[in-house]
Amino acid sequence: MNNRIYTKTFSAPKRSMTLYHSGDASPRGTLEFTHIEDVHNAVMKARTSFDNFWCESELSQRVEYIKALLELLIIRQNDFAHIISLETGSPIDFSKKQQVQTAINHVQASLKVTENLSLDLPVKDENPQHRTRYEAMGVAALITPWNWPLNQVILKVVGAFLAGCTILLKPSELTTETALLLEETILESGVPDGVFNLIIGDGIIGQALISHPQVDVISFTGSTETGQKISVQAASQFKPCILELGGKSANIIFADCIIEKAVQQGVAHCFRNSGQSCNAASRMLVERSIYDEVLALVQKEVQNIKIGMPEKKGNHLGPLISKRQYERVQKFILSGIEDGAHLLAGGPGKPTSFEKGYFVKPTVFADVTEDMAIFKEEIFGPVLTITPFDEEAEAIRLANATPFGLSGYIQSSNHERLNRLAARLKVGMVQVNGQSRIEGAAFGGVKASGMGREAGLWGIRAFQHIKSISGVTL
Ligand code: NAD
Repeated sequence: MNNRIYTKTFSAPKRSMTLYHSGDASPRGTLEFTHIEDVHNAVMKARTSFDNFWCESELSQRVEYIKALLELLIIRQNDFAHIISLETGSPIDFSKKQQVQTAINHVQASLKVTENLSLDLPVKDENPQHRTRYEAMGVAALITPWNWPLNQVILKVVGAFLAGCTILLKPSELTTETALLLEETILESGVPDGVFNLIIGDGIIGQALISHPQVDVISFTGSTETGQKISVQAASQFKPCILELGGKSANIIFADCIIEKAVQQGVAHCFRNSGQSCNAASRMLVERSIYDEVLALVQKEVQNIKIGMPEKKGNHLGPLISKRQYERVQKFILSGIEDGAHLLAGGPGKPTSFEKGYFVKPTVFADVTEDMAIFKEEIFGPVLTITPFDEEAEAIRLANATPFGLSGYIQSSNHERLNRLAARLKVGMVQVNGQSRIEGAAFGGVKASGMGREAGLWGIRAFQHIKSISGVTL
C-alpha cells in the first residue's frame, strides 16, 4: 500500500485502517489516511490552481486532457479490473466487462457531448448582446462509494473537469487503490498539478473536506443517511450539492409481457454485482394472474446462479465487499423470515464451500407486503422481494410506496400502459422491457434517492453556474 501524499509531521496521529480480502476474510494491508490537517492543504491547492490559471482554461484544452485519459484508461483496463476485483470482490470478468467498460463508455459519451457544447449561448439568436454563460463553479469536492468504484468516480471527475472545475476526490476508504491508479493515470495524461487532488480516508476526512469554506460545490454518491448529513452541511454554507443516493427500485411485471424473458432479465438485474447496485431491480411486483408461474421461473433462475471467488473467470456472483455489509444483509434476511415472508430461495448463512468470505446465498422472498422492512429498505445485497398486485393502479401505488425514487422497470407489451406508467412512477429513470439506458442519459433519482443528475451533458452542467450577461457581444 502506498504511503500517501502530504506526509508532514503533525501533533495529531495519522489514522489508518486494515483492509481485507472479501473472498476469504484474510487481512491484506493497511490503508493510511490523509492527515486531517492536509485536507486543508489539498483544498487550498485546488483553490489557488482554480483562481490562478484553471478558471481561464478553454473547453477545447480540457477535452484534449480527457481524450488522453481515455486512451490510458483503455490501455490499463485490465489493471483497473484486477484492482476492482481485489478491493470489492467483484468477479474478474464482471469487473472487466461491466465495471471498467461502463466507465470507459461514460468518458466516451461525455466527450461526444463536448462536440456541440457551448459555454456561451445567446438568449435570443437575433440579439447576441444578451448571453447565457455557463461558468465553472470552482473547487469541486467529490465523494464516492465502493460499489462501482471506477464508474462512480469517472462520472464525477469527467463532468467536473470538462465543466472547468478543479477537483478534490475522496473515494470510499474501501476502494482507494482503484482511485490511486486513476490518479496516476490522470497525472500521466498531462493534467496540470493542482487540478486533480486525491484525499484518502473515511467519513471524518470526507466531513472535513465538504465543510471546508473554500470548497464551492459538493457532489456525493453514497448512502441516503450520509447524503442527508452532507445536504444539511451544504445548505448551511449555501453550497450547491448533487446527491446520488440509495434505491429500492420496482420491476413491474404485467401478464402481457414475454414472461420468461422478463423474469430472466429481472433476476439478473437484481443479483448482478451481488446486489450491490443502487439501481438494482430489487422489488418484483407481479400481476396476480401470472404470480405462480413467475415464482416457479424465478426459483429455477436463482437455482442456476453460481457463486465463485473474485479472481475466478466466468459468470458468477462474488462475495459482498465487507463483513459489515455481510452482517447488514443477514439482518434483513432474518427480518424477512420473522415478518412472515415466504422464503423461496436462499436464506441466512453462507453458501456451502464458501464459509470463509463474505458470501451470501442468493435469496428470494415471495408474498412480501408493503409493511415489511425488506419491501421498504435498501438491502444492498443479493436479495429479491416479490409482491403480487391485481390492477395497474395498485402496481403504481406499490412501486411508489418506499422513500426512494431512483429507477423503475416495467414489463408489458401495451404501449399506452408503458407510457402511462413511465409518467406515473416517482423516479429519476425508467427502463421498459429490458432496455438498458444509453450512455449519456441523465442518471439520478428523486425523493430519498437524491437530487441532481450525472452523465453526459447533465454531468457537465451540474458543475456550472448560469450567468446572464446583457449589453455586450463576445
Ligand atoms: P456511505 O454513505 O457509507 O459512504 C459513501 C462515501 O461517503 C464514502 O466515501 C465515505 O467515506 C463518505 N462519508 C461517510 N460519511 C461521511 C460524512 N459524514 N461526510 C462526508 N463523507 C462521508 O455509502 P457506501 O456504503 O460507500 O455506498 C453504498 C451506498 O451508495 C448505497 O446506499 C447505494 O445505494 C449508494 N449508491 C448510490 C448511487 C446512485 O447513483 N444513486 C450509486 C452507487 C451507490
